[in-house]
Amino acid sequence: MWVPNLENIKQVATKAGLDDIAVTGVEPLVEARAAIEERKRQGLHAGMNFTYGNPERATDPALLFEGAQSILVAVRRYKPPSVDEPQTSNPGTKVRLESPKGLVAAYVCSDEYGMLRQGLTAVANYLEGFGARTEVVMDDNRLADRAVAARAGLGWLGRNTMLLHPQLGSWTVIGSVVTDAPIQGQSENPHDGCGTCRRCSTDCPTGAIDEFGVLDANKCLAWLLQAKGTFPRRYRTALGDRLYGCDDCQVLCPINDEAMNASGTALPKDSKVDIVALLDSSDEELMKQFGHWYIPRRRPEYLRRNALIVLGNSRSHDDLEVDRVLENCLMASEPLVRSHAVWAALRLGKKHLIGPDVVGSLVEHDPDGIVRAELEEWGILLDLDSQ
Ligand code: SF4
Ligand code: SF4
Repeated sequence: MWVPNLENIKQVATKAGLDDIAVTGVEPLVEARAAIEERKRQGLHAGMNFTYGNPERATDPALLFEGAQSILVAVRRYKPPSVDEPQTSNPGTKVRLESPKGLVAAYVCSDEYGMLRQGLTAVANYLEGFGARTEVVMDDNRLADRAVAARAGLGWLGRNTMLLHPQLGSWTVIGSVVTDAPIQGQSENPHDGCGTCRRCSTDCPTGAIDEFGVLDANKCLAWLLQAKGTFPRRYRTALGDRLYGCDDCQVLCPINDEAMNASGTALPKDSKVDIVALLDSSDEELMKQFGHWYIPRRRPEYLRRNALIVLGNSRSHDDLEVDRVLENCLMASEPLVRSHAVWAALRLGKKHLIGPDVVGSLVEHDPDGIVRAELEEWGILLDLDSQ
């Protein structure tokens, strides 16, 4: 098989919208495996699956298919969202300008993974033209993508656990083309450019990054928004208006400032979702609008859970529309929604929405006692018991 060189492949990749590409072999990612297993042992993964599900497989690229020899790893920079105001991710719904909004992380503001896949497929097709076998692997539990990208020389793994590309920063999505073609390439592995900086550690709203490159998912807002069950009470205020994802440890990273300044590209601006409109939507409407997000168990109640925390953190004390959606959520069939509606209502000082007549129906059909527990936290059941 005649094998194209990396320079030819780079030209194909650039034309296909990829911002950088490099090559590495399929040898096991030994350090990454040890790190994943250690974090798992310490419980820092907080139930995350991803590469934690099967660290051995995720760090042994040779298992992807028999005969695999090379991995072409590519990055694509996020497309900065539009700067037009107001910008909402739930078009077609009635949006009031003053209504509370929830922030959405930059990487979901456009179909970055779809565009990444297109670019990788163009590279794969090019290689197949020479008779090579290929497989596109992206956003896939079978490959620790940041570790393989770092080994290919695309950047270093920063304190914030992200791949930091010296020119592009961390606003990138990563994907690979695994092939049986023996692609040669020289990569210079950039040295750790974090130096003495600790900004992502010190400014993370929940202190989720302590040790260099170690994220405690139990505290990370981005993960907690995707995790099952009730949202931990101690982090609800810190969540602020984040509805999906958290970009803080990238926004404040000086490497990203330099990368964006150098490229002349504006920092991504989060898209916003109208919270009242979201809480007014049916299950079907929610899955149609947000079904491309990671939603625990594919259950829309988790979108409502997260939206209710954003609502509780808003300053919408005098908004009658907010009262209306809260009243609806307090009558929801799902205890998860009712318990977070209790939190939101009381955080907004709307105790009048949870009168004695409402409390009785709130604690009905509450098999895990989560609504009762929320009411107890606010002393509501005690109030009633003493009447
Ligand atoms: S995503 Fe947000 S909460 Fe998670 S580590 Fe980064 S700054 Fe902290
Ligand atoms: S904020 Fe500082 S320490 Fe954190 S990843 Fe960026 S450069 Fe590294």
